[in-house]
Amino acid sequence: MTNQYEIIIIGGSYAGLSAALTLGRSKRKVLIIDGGKPCNAPTPHAHNFLTHDGQNPREIARIGKEQVLAYPTVRFESGTVSEVVKHIDGFAVKTEDGGNFIADKIIVATGIRDLFPSIEGFAECWGISAVHCPYCHGFELSDRPTAILANGEMAMHYAKLVYNLSKDITILTNGRHAFGSADITKLTAKNIHIIDSVIKKINHEHGQITSVEFEGRPTLNVTAMYAGLPMEQHSDIPHQLGCEIDENGLIKVDAGQQTTIDGVFACGDNSSMRSLSVAVQTGMVAGAYINMLLCEEAF
Ligand SMILES: Cc1cc2nc3c(=O)[nH]c(=O)nc-3n(C[C@H](O)[C@H](O)[C@H](O)COP(=O)(O)OP(=O)(O)OC[C@H]3O[C@@H](n4cnc5c(N)ncnc54)[C@H](O)[C@@H]3O)c2cc1C
Repeated sequence: MTNQYEIIIIGGSYAGLSAALTLGRSKRKVLIIDGGKPCNAPTPHAHNFLTHDGQNPREIARIGKEQVLAYPTVRFESGTVSEVVKHIDGFAVKTEDGGNFIADKIIVATGIRDLFPSIEGFAECWGISAVHCPYCHGFELSDRPTAILANGEMAMHYAKLVYNLSKDITILTNGRHAFGSADITKLTAKNIHIIDSVIKKINHEHGQITSVEFEGRPTLNVTAMYAGLPMEQHSDIPHQLGCEIDENGLIKVDAGQQTTIDGVFACGDNSSMRSLSVAVQTGMVAGAYINMLLCEEAF
C-alpha cells in the first residue's frame, strides 16, 4: 500500500527533520507531515546553534528539509494531523484535508505554543526584543535597560541569568507581586526594581521595544524584555494517544525518547529543554532508537 509507512513523523521542523534524517539514512520508509507553524517563526536570527549561529531560522529549516528529502525513502506532506488511532499492529493517521496513512511507529515532533499576555505591542516584539531565552538572544540584548516580565520563582530565575548580561534590570509582574522578603532583599542588593502596576502597552519600533506604559505610574524606558510565558502542547495528538504529560506540561519520555505509549516517540520542544540543538539531538535519538527496535524485530 502506498500510504503505509514504517514511521510517520508528525511535525517537520527541527526535531522532526532530524529524526527523519537518521531514519532516512537507515533506509526506513518515513512520512513527515508538517503544519508549517514553528514556534520561532517571528525571530529573524537564531543563535547558539553550532554552525548556524545568527542565521535565519527558516533558512536553517529549509536547508534541513532539502538534505532530509535527498534520501529516497523519506516523503514530506504539508498538512495538519487531526487524528491518530492505535490499532493492534500499528497506527492510523488522518489529516485535516482527508489524508489517511498507516504506520508501525509514530514520532510526535509537534512543539509547544506560547500563550501571550494580552498586552498591546507584546506580540509584535516577540522574538525580536521580547524573548524567552538568554542563551538564544541574551548576547545581542546585553547591557541594555532590560525588563523581566515574570513573577515569583520564574522572575528570580530570570533575574539571576539576566544579571550576568545587564545590570539595569526591572521586574514587571503586571499585577500584585509574589516575592518573599528574602527575594526582595536579594533583588534590592542588586539594584533590581519591581513594578507591580498593570501594564497598559509596550511601545516599539518594528518590534524593537522603546518603553513600557503602566496604569497609574510613569512610563519605563527599556529596550529589551525577557518573558516567562505559560505554554501548552502545540498539538492535542499526544493527548489523544494517551501520552503522559509531566508537571511542566512536557510529554514524558525515556532515554530513547519513547513516550508512555508503546510505539509512540516524542522529540523536540514538546518533551525537552527548548533549543534548536536539543530539538535536533532528541530527534536524532528518537530516530536511532526506533531504527534499533525495527532492526531487532527483524533479526
Ligand atoms: C521566538 C523564539 C525564538 C527562538 N530563538 C532560538 C534561538 O535563537 N536559538 C535556539 O537554539 N532556539 C531558539 N528558540 C527555540 C527553538 O525555536 C525551538 O527549540 C525549536 O523550534 C523546537 O523545534 P521543534 O521541532 O520541537 O518544534 P517547532 O519548531 O515549534 O515545530 C513544530 C512543528 O510541528 C508542526 N505541528 C504541530 N502540530 C501538528 C499537527 N497536528 N500536524 C502536523 N504538524 C504539526 C508545527 O506546525 C511545526 O511546524 C526560539 C523559540 C522562540 C519561540
